[in-house]
Amino acid sequence: MTCEFDLDFLMGGTTREMHCKVPLLYEAGEAFLKMQMAAKKDGVCLKIISGHRDFNHQNKLWAAKYKKFVAPKLNDLIENILQYTALPGTSRHHWGTEIDLVDGDLNLDDPLLTKNYINGGPFYQMYDWLLDRAEQFNFYMTYPDDKKRTGFMFEPWHFSYQPLSKKCLDCFLSQNWVDCLDVKKIAGEKLLTAAYLKKYQCDYLLGINLKLL
Ligand SMILES: [Zn+2]
Repeated sequence: MTCEFDLDFLMGGTTREMHCKVPLLYEAGEAFLKMQMAAKKDGVCLKIISGHRDFNHQNKLWAAKYKKFVAPKLNDLIENILQYTALPGTSRHHWGTEIDLVDGDLNLDDPLLTKNYINGGPFYQMYDWLLDRAEQFNFYMTYPDDKKRTGFMFEPWHFSYQPLSKKCLDCFLSQNWVDCLDVKKIAGEKLLTAAYLKKYQCDYLLGINLKLL
């Protein structure tokens, strides 16, 4: 398979030029701007709180969580981090196709919490709009609230631009990312064996919205 996206980019190493207005690949950025305009007409202010992130950025998030969680066993520690934070090198945020969205009209100290998005929460109007309209713009919730899904927790804020992220996922899976991952740079490396990473691929990287597979 020839890949439009090389593994080094997909793993957050080399970066590509992103859209000048939004931290996404150009095509995804254009789609987002259209969706943002449509939302604005309905009185909803879509704001990207995080888009493209490289390996070093993801590794900082990972290391901060590693310090934060105190667990009796390394195994539990990694599982705790993995509730919401992908292993550096495997985050879909490396691809320039993923966004975390908040309501730009509101300023919350800790916006990325499920309770802010669900019915009764301050972001509910925006969330409800996204449920209704995002797919028209090819943005899909990556980690929906589906009991049958494995891996990361429900993330009502995280959306994926499907036409490009599907290509990225196919390219990523068709290349040998397990051997390429530089685990020495990552906190908790002892646990990150090839066997663990293969299981992680199954449970986490494939534990996404079926429409993105
Ligand atoms: Zn995200």
